[in-house]
Amino acid sequence: MDVGYEATPPPSAGKDWASFWNYVDRAPPTEESDPVPRDILVVGAGIAGIAAALALSKELTPFVPDLRITVYERHDILSTSGGAINLTPVAQRHLDRLGVLAELDRLGPEGGTDVDAIELYSSRSGRSLGSVDFVDEHGNGFGGYKGRRVMRIALSVAMLTVVERSKNVNVVFGKKLVRGKETKDKAMLYFHDGTTATGDLVLGCDGVHSATRMYWVDPDSPSEYTGISFCQTLVDTKKIKAPVHFRSTSMNISRHGSLLASYCDRDHEQIFLAAIVQFREELLPHYRMDPGQDWRRTAAIKQALRQEMQDRFGRSGVPCIRDFVNKADDWMLYPVWQVRPNARWYRGRVILLGDAAHAMPPRDESAAYALDDAILFSRILAKHRYDPLTVAFKAYEDLRRGTVNAAFQVSRRMWEKNRDMGFLEGRLKEWTYPMQVRNAKDSREAAWEFDATKVAIPGMLSDQSSSLYSSERDFL
Ligand SMILES: Cc1cc2nc3c(=O)[nH]c(=O)nc-3n(C[C@H](O)[C@H](O)[C@H](O)COP(=O)(O)OP(=O)(O)OC[C@H]3O[C@@H](n4cnc5c(N)ncnc54)[C@H](O)[C@@H]3O)c2cc1C
Repeated sequence: MDVGYEATPPPSAGKDWASFWNYVDRAPPTEESDPVPRDILVVGAGIAGIAAALALSKELTPFVPDLRITVYERHDILSTSGGAINLTPVAQRHLDRLGVLAELDRLGPEGGTDVDAIELYSSRSGRSLGSVDFVDEHGNGFGGYKGRRVMRIALSVAMLTVVERSKNVNVVFGKKLVRGKETKDKAMLYFHDGTTATGDLVLGCDGVHSATRMYWVDPDSPSEYTGISFCQTLVDTKKIKAPVHFRSTSMNISRHGSLLASYCDRDHEQIFLAAIVQFREELLPHYRMDPGQDWRRTAAIKQALRQEMQDRFGRSGVPCIRDFVNKADDWMLYPVWQVRPNARWYRGRVILLGDAAHAMPPRDESAAYALDDAILFSRILAKHRYDPLTVAFKAYEDLRRGTVNAAFQVSRRMWEKNRDMGFLEGRLKEWTYPMQVRNAKDSREAAWEFDATKVAIPGMLSDQSSSLYSSERDFL
């Protein structure tokens, strides 16, 4: 056992022996204590799953020398789909602590581009509507971190490189969970290929359509379509002849949805385009692209999406936006789904983290929530390692549910602004946008200061509340 992690009595404890044990992190195990989880099964190798595996490895290794964490991913290989993602200062800080940021940087230009601000424009007139700044007035990031736009595949590669270095985390590909079961002492996963896995604890990190949630934890909380989809593509910067109107990232607002245009590599060779648009649910099957489907169907879908983007943004007052939608030809539709805030998060030996628990309409921050979940849960489990699992599960939910529900409501309200609007409503949106962005500045910046590795965990003294992340120790 690593005594460095055990709480030491505070200086005042000697004066008050009656309350001494209240100050101590947790009494050592007794005969009756529950065994510390040794075999941890994680479903899904996305951001939440890999981050949870790495964070648990850091937090539990000192107490559980024979810890084994296995991540089961349904894809046979890393998925190249999904385009680029924006990482907020909080997400970057978490990834830094997990060792992922250094790996991203090692990827060179593909490791993403710094984002000082998301510049907001009217797509109609080109007028600036303000900016979401990831730096302060001196150009410094929040807590030392700015934003970063990076291709999802690059982020996955960086995360898996850290996993490879870690002595007790393994990822197994080609394992699609179809159901789970638990007994008093164990949890079992059943995979599509007929194999099974048994462990002490299961983390369901399998995203918005989570099988762990649907077939195990809360079948009554299916994912639901938000009514809005992302239509995404990449375009070579060289192809764009009109001057680009932003430094690294822009969000171009219109009454037919918003068009995000952002560089996604350090050398600014590629521009990632994502139109955030209203799309009827009954149309989604017509735009679905499946591996191996007839090439004529694929070509027809891409042509229809291209036409849709030209209809929505082709008359923009910003020349390069017109250029984008005329030149880009490989659009793909990503419907956005959510999980209602009241979904159940755990039962018995299984808990949901990330989108599996609380997918919300994305507002560039959902990945940070998945990372927060992973780090907070790991710290809480380390604290309650000798307690029944449900004690840790409940402590986690008590700390987390309010924050997540509040974030969901904010996302939902912002998301509404992307639905199609009439002429007057569209103008009103443009006029009021700068004020709304300014009003949300303080809460946004407060959120970026949030540090899941330091946030106080109830029952621990503040100086005991920082996790192994805040020390210099490295168990990977
Ligand atoms: C179009 C779009 C754009 C977005 N842009 C941003 C952005 O710019 N910034 C941001 O912060 N957030 C963004 N988000 C949100 C962000 O992508 C998610 O919040 C984040 O990926 C959640 O991570 P996760 O690990 O919980 O889920 P996921 O990333 O969905 O990962 C789940 C993993 O589980 C696997 N899996 C699924 N089912 C099974 C199964 N049955 N068995 C085994 N494995 C399974 C999946 O293959 C996947 O690898 C965006 C979301 C969408 C839809």
